[in-house]
Amino acid sequence: MTLASRKFFAANWKMHMGPDETSRFVRSFAAAYEARADRTVAVFPPAISIAAFRAAAADRPDLEVGIQDVHAEAHGAHTGAISAGMAAEAGVAWGLAGHSERRCEFGDDDELVGRKLSRLLEAGVKPVLCVGETLTQREEDRLYEVLSRQVATALRDLAPDERGRLTYAYEPVWAIGTGKTASPDDAAGAHEILRKRVAHLTDEDTANRAIILYGGSVKPENIEALLAAPGVDGVLVGGASLDSDGFARICAARSG
Ligand code: PEP
Repeated sequence: MTLASRKFFAANWKMHMGPDETSRFVRSFAAAYEARADRTVAVFPPAISIAAFRAAAADRPDLEVGIQDVHAEAHGAHTGAISAGMAAEAGVAWGLAGHSERRCEFGDDDELVGRKLSRLLEAGVKPVLCVGETLTQREEDRLYEVLSRQVATALRDLAPDERGRLTYAYEPVWAIGTGKTASPDDAAGAHEILRKRVAHLTDEDTANRAIILYGGSVKPENIEALLAAPGVDGVLVGGASLDSDGFARICAARSG
């Protein structure tokens, strides 16, 4: 059972949308979607477009901004990298850690993801920890084991109060960018596992208050069914969030 009363809609733009396109998106999304007290909307543009997003959304404080990745160190000789502190200075409210594309393409493992969570928390950026199983792991019936390991290792070095400040995204790797969506039952089952593991690592109250998003080929056509699944507090949307009208439809979808 979740206590989250607001629904959360996050857009992960990956390596799409430069500053100009970002400004155009914000203008057209703002015209299509009105702020709602029962919804949080957060967009994760490429880091180079964050300033453009904030400038274009200056009169829409309900549109929050996040960063897709930060370095596991606070500063240093890491060419091309961005620290959590810099993201905070740029006005970022949220930070993804452990997205499957970071894990697969850049080798981010659970231990590194945990260090990124620490840097985000130190900087005052709210982390969204992404976890999820591959198709092979699902077929081998290893969902519980994989989610348990990902969460336990990532949270291992966090203090109890820090553990209570995390948001989670369950993103089955086989559903990301593939057009295959987890069924509402599958999503509910995975969210239940995740919430139980969070309870084990924190306490029941913290776990019940934790926001757990579903991500993986969410689109306007399947959003209502996913939002109706028990324990799904919102969604993390990749491809379908690049279209301002489509993302506006997702954010305005009926829930409950
Ligand atoms: C994602 O990148 O987090 C994601 C869920 O992508 P898509 O919606 O395209 O599957």
